[in-house]
Amino acid sequence: MNLVLLGPPGAGKGTQAERLQESLGVAHLSTGAILRAAVAQGTDLGRQVKDVIEHGDLVPDDMMVAVISHRIDETDCAKGFILDGFPRTVAQAEALDHLLGERDLALDAVIVMAVDEDALVDRITGRYTCDDCGAGYHDRNLKPRVEGVCDRCGGCEFTRRADDNEETVRDRLTHYHDMTAPLLPYYEGRGLLRKVDGMAEIENIAEAIAAVLRAA
Ligand code: AMP
Repeated sequence: MNLVLLGPPGAGKGTQAERLQESLGVAHLSTGAILRAAVAQGTDLGRQVKDVIEHGDLVPDDMMVAVISHRIDETDCAKGFILDGFPRTVAQAEALDHLLGERDLALDAVIVMAVDEDALVDRITGRYTCDDCGAGYHDRNLKPRVEGVCDRCGGCEFTRRADDNEETVRDRLTHYHDMTAPLLPYYEGRGLLRKVDGMAEIENIAEAIAAVLRAA
């Protein structure tokens, strides 16, 4: 199964994609995570995108298409993939159609997580992840059971993203409206768009997505 998760930054795409990765046995491809790993490792790609990411701007389309083109050929994508953070522009969506067509693949659904944007800045500026296993937490909405200790792996080191500050979040939201929101009519026109309420509880969103996929 090949899916795209759409929605503004902070909509909860990563959380749902992780759950889907487990329940469907497909790969979770987060372009943001791929780029952050490249920055951390100091690769050529990482050096080229570091400033762009930290300012909340978009990495050029051709670079992103090259990243995804290589990534979907890796073995963990053989049963399918969930794209989280890609495509982010209509040009990327067109390139994705082309890439999939070349491989005789297609998208099964594009799930958009609808959220109340006033809540997003609060959601994003409070979030952090476990350094060891990547589990996500939030200062107010999703605390670990024992403060400072990861529920999943017991790790005690956590990281906040450099671009999760209020000023950068507002720029990322502007880019979402200008560049990414046009993907909704793009996929609606192809009969692929499915909307879920991204403001519901995490469990209920997961159930809504599962229902959408049963019907896909
Ligand atoms: P995310 O983790 O999806 O919020 O992405 C973090 C940052 O990585 C974004 O603010 C962009 O700077 C960059 N990025 C991730 N995916 C893309 C993409 N598909 N196109 C352009 N830039 C991207």
